[in-house]
Amino acid sequence: MQASNRISTLLSGGSDGWEVFNKAREMIAAGTDVTELTIGEHDIRTAAPILQDMHRAAMGGHTGYASIPGIPALREAVAARVTERTGVPTRPENVMITPGGQSALFAAHTAVIDPGDTGLYIDPYYATYPGTLRAASAVPVAIEARASEAFQPRAADIDAVAKGAKSLLVNSPNNPTGVVYTRETMEGIAQVCRAHDLWLISDEVYDTQIWESAHLSPRALEGMAERTLVVGSMSKSHAMTGSRIGWIVGPEEIVSHMINLATHTTYGVPGFIQEAAVFALNQGTAFEEEIAEPFRRRRQIALDVLASQNVVGAVPNGGAMYMMLDISATGLSGEAFAYALLEKHHIATMPGESFGSAAAGHLRVAMTIEDGAFEQAMKTLCSFAESLASAS
Ligand code: PLP
Repeated sequence: MQASNRISTLLSGGSDGWEVFNKAREMIAAGTDVTELTIGEHDIRTAAPILQDMHRAAMGGHTGYASIPGIPALREAVAARVTERTGVPTRPENVMITPGGQSALFAAHTAVIDPGDTGLYIDPYYATYPGTLRAASAVPVAIEARASEAFQPRAADIDAVAKGAKSLLVNSPNNPTGVVYTRETMEGIAQVCRAHDLWLISDEVYDTQIWESAHLSPRALEGMAERTLVVGSMSKSHAMTGSRIGWIVGPEEIVSHMINLATHTTYGVPGFIQEAAVFALNQGTAFEEEIAEPFRRRRQIALDVLASQNVVGAVPNGGAMYMMLDISATGLSGEAFAYALLEKHHIATMPGESFGSAAAGHLRVAMTIEDGAFEQAMKTLCSFAESLASAS
């Protein structure tokens, strides 16, 4: 018996870009002490009061099937938050609660794509994007954001492939680059979407991790609310990765279709997790800033280390828990460098190539370990790069 073509070709080329990560995990399992700068997960766990509230809700009986679009209190809380932060009037009917941002990405594409339609996305990209588009029966087409332009995508490049496409997926603050799209970039994206009648799927799961400027949701731009689906999540903002809680915000009619999809796929999110999410959102912005603070601090640590040498280049990261480093001066690819760094110094990073060809010659560093160890790892990485560059 054979698996479907759709599922067996989910990972094009058979590689999921996680080979260095898997090697690091093997080394750890074999007892090697590896410094892990790989995955986007906080080094703290979900805060105790949130867990206590989850426990309270479960003990209080919220363990049965929960409302599929989301419990009213949570849809209301998300709608109020989005209205307040973006200025776009948003009602609970514009919100569907999802098991994390990943499931929202799938629902959004399924809602706007018919089999064989083109879904655009920007390279470098979060590793699951092409597979998510394929899972939704789209033909994924990547648009390069150039390293030489600080990974800000050009409207003209999007415009060149937009004819006949159905959707465009963007992500700011960006994983893997940490780049925050400028207003000019966002205006350009919006202009192309309006001109080609594209749905814009805006992945904003890092919207509370902004180190400079402010978060700009493209849904707030002129004529965009009717064609934008915003993906949100509490994984990064509230350190709730394992709770699988996120949302999608968009026009009421398309949200109602996605609710039908949820009825036939996820069947919603556990009620006790949704109640804890309401509690967590009610903690306000000070709590979110506290969760983001370690990354802000470590970004500065990394910038200070990088300023003391001139082999490793930093991509200006205005947000997110990552830093993209240009290691091309060593003469190695990102992948070769990441393997060598892992073997010689037991430091695990993600090769830029894991996130698309536009990030070749780069490394993604997740700023997700304790400050002192992070600083030491950055120093070792830089001196290793210097030794390679002087030998080449
Ligand atoms: N989008 C981006 C850009 C991400 O980096 C991630 C996770 O790392 C997700 C979506 C999915 O997050 P979750 O499903 O935990 O909300």
